[in-house]
Amino acid sequence: MDAKQIEGDLALDQTYIAEADIQARLRELAAEIARDYEGEDLLLVGVLRGAVMVMADLARALDRDVEMDWMAVSSYGSGTTSSGVVRILKDLDSDLTGRHVLIVEDIIDSGLTLSWLTTNLRSRKPASVEICTLLRKPEALKMVVDVKYVGFDIPNAFVVGYGLDYDERYRNLRDIATLAPHVYA
Ligand code: 5GP
Ligand code: MG
Ligand code: MG
Repeated sequence: MDAKQIEGDLALDQTYIAEADIQARLRELAAEIARDYEGEDLLLVGVLRGAVMVMADLARALDRDVEMDWMAVSSYGSGTTSSGVVRILKDLDSDLTGRHVLIVEDIIDSGLTLSWLTTNLRSRKPASVEICTLLRKPEALKMVVDVKYVGFDIPNAFVVGYGLDYDERYRNLRDIATLAPHVYA
């Protein structure tokens, strides 16, 4: 699904980050990651389901061998606010002992989920745990956890596409778009 669909879809507002810009930024991040982990083994941990597209494209942009594993978590919380209390719906298949782990995320908002996840993974005796996210919202800057690789810092708007959903829709949009305010207002 691409930008042409946006014009015909009243729920979508406008293209916010175009497919080509996403891919270009991922290639830059991949080059940085390849440099930083040179000579080390690397395990990418994708957080389902939003990070599927980022993982697929970032991993293929990496000019080196990597392993990929997946986790699914759900955050307990009322309505739209994340409480920071997280339940594991699907755990990793890999043993993290002694491994370099890079968490791959679509977007960080409050950072509560990721903060919990990082602590959880660090308790499994890995060699290192770092975070790569395609998008970061302003609230995340208050996070105690460092985010090593950030694709784009974006303002506080609700975005969809490239893995990100609104009520499970729009994940297969190639671009990232803003949702029309009438949809969630
Ligand atoms: P937090 O960082 O607040 O713990 O949670 C981040 C999660 O909230 C993301 O993984 C994503 O599922 C959801 N989220 C936050 N902002 C947005 C947004 O603008 N669009 C979409 N589709 N999901 C968002
Ligand atoms: Mg996510
Ligand atoms: Mg969602």
